[in-house]
Amino acid sequence: MEYFFNDLQKTVKGMARTIAEEKVLPVRAELDESEEFPWAIMKHLADTDLFGAFLPEEYGGLGGGCLELCLVIEELSRVCSAVAVSYASSSLGSFTLLEYGSEEQKRKYLPDIARGEKLAAFAVTEAEAGSDIGNIKTTASRIDGGYIINGTKQFITNGGEADIYTVIVLTDRTKGPRGASAFLVEKGTPGFSFGKKEKKMGIRASATRELVFEDCLVPEKNIIGREGMGFITTVRLFDRSRPGIGAQAVGLAQGALEAAVDYAKKRVQFGHPIISFQAVQHMLANMATEVEAARALVYATARTVDSGAKNIGLESAMSKVFASDVAMRVTTDAVQILGGVGYMRDYPVEKMMRDAKITQIYEGTNEILRNVIALELRKKKAF
Ligand SMILES: Cc1cc2nc3c(=O)[nH]c(=O)nc-3n(C[C@H](O)[C@H](O)[C@H](O)COP(=O)(O)OP(=O)(O)OC[C@H]3O[C@@H](n4cnc5c(N)ncnc54)[C@H](O)[C@@H]3O)c2cc1C
Repeated sequence: MEYFFNDLQKTVKGMARTIAEEKVLPVRAELDESEEFPWAIMKHLADTDLFGAFLPEEYGGLGGGCLELCLVIEELSRVCSAVAVSYASSSLGSFTLLEYGSEEQKRKYLPDIARGEKLAAFAVTEAEAGSDIGNIKTTASRIDGGYIINGTKQFITNGGEADIYTVIVLTDRTKGPRGASAFLVEKGTPGFSFGKKEKKMGIRASATRELVFEDCLVPEKNIIGREGMGFITTVRLFDRSRPGIGAQAVGLAQGALEAAVDYAKKRVQFGHPIISFQAVQHMLANMATEVEAARALVYATARTVDSGAKNIGLESAMSKVFASDVAMRVTTDAVQILGGVGYMRDYPVEKMMRDAKITQIYEGTNEILRNVIALELRKKKAF
């Protein structure tokens, strides 16, 4: 399908593909086994300015937006989703700052993020607040000149590796979700440390850690926007970032489809390559159709985000739900087409199937997002 990319979009897509093929592919299996954070690859991405793909030029970025970001994520994820999410989480940690930060905050933090000199991360989840983010318990108590943060965030991507964290905490416990605020917290701030690193099913080279705040003093100037805006900024953030999860899912599904086609051409049974069997051809036909449909929805949503449209919760949720379900089906079918070897770690598809699962869970589980879709459709009186 023709997506009519402009020059910048073609360039970032091409650069991401080159890095994925030349730098990521040779170490993909090793990274999955060692579960080591892919710093060397982050360095390559930084050298090509891809961390700034979605950031305005005035802050050192390339001047792109959500679509450019999605193209980079998709290309990286086609080869290794753990690398893709490590890259993508830096944008997740930057969006709130970009949209609601003061000029001083943007000038201080965004150029380092655009250059890839510093990674960012976003933290809202806690042990008792996953889908129910309104139940967060981490607090920021006002004192003279700043706030004291106490509490623990859980499952934070890039935790421990990033330098800059956007953290959602309660500045007023009596107001529930309306009492939440967003803060920038830098690695190395006294009272801010990292808990255990999770051992995961998939995206194993990405870092997922607890953030621990014990009487952590952050200056007043580190609040993003105003007190009480924390949940509004989080909803807006996810509306803009969910197409990125969709892109991760599309990349994964594309990689699995290519691996399945490649294998099906070479594997001979009953005297014929298995790709000659109609049952296999139909599976591949369905996989290819679903990948293209997911891609079209993700790109259309990314373009809607970039248009500056305000109410994009519906499209954003649809793109993430649809693409992640496609990734799960397509990677599972790819394992099926490879038969026994598909189940073995010598081939990439079992990793892709493990990696796909998380796209149905994070940034809102698909059950929660179906609630969002239904709610938005009801608002539009669709049913
Ligand atoms: C690898 C990884 C990386 C992550 N990275 C980050 C990060 O960088 N920053 C961050 O803040 N968070 C992060 N998260 C957290 C992630 O967003 C949450 O795990 C996710 O939102 C689900 O929350 P939960 O795990 O508490 O599941 P729960 O909310 O406990 O849900 C459990 C099950 O119940 C279902 N459920 C819950 N409520 C409802 C309902 N009302 N209706 C229907 N079904 C429901 C869910 O769909 C799910 O199937 C990450 C998680 C993982 C695993």
